[in-house]
Amino acid sequence: MPRYDFRCRACGATFELSRPMAEANDPATCPQGHPDTVKLLSTVAVTGGAAGSSAPAPSGGGGGCCGGGCCG
Ligand SMILES: [Zn+2]
Repeated sequence: MPRYDFRCRACGATFELSRPMAEANDPATCPQGHPDTVKLLSTVAVTGGAAGSSAPAPSGGGGGCCGGGCCG
């Protein structure tokens, strides 16, 4: 059974629930009893956790549009 992460907008707590996919979008209740929760996409969407991984930055200059003077 898949697990889904939720975040409570009342107290800011995050929690996860195991539920069938058919009930993935059903409203969840915070462990503290708050009904105002939102479902997080997945654990991979959480930022600020992994270290050492960075997207390759595009190198400036050298070909492309801006290299040929077409951009002004
Ligand atoms: Zn709460």
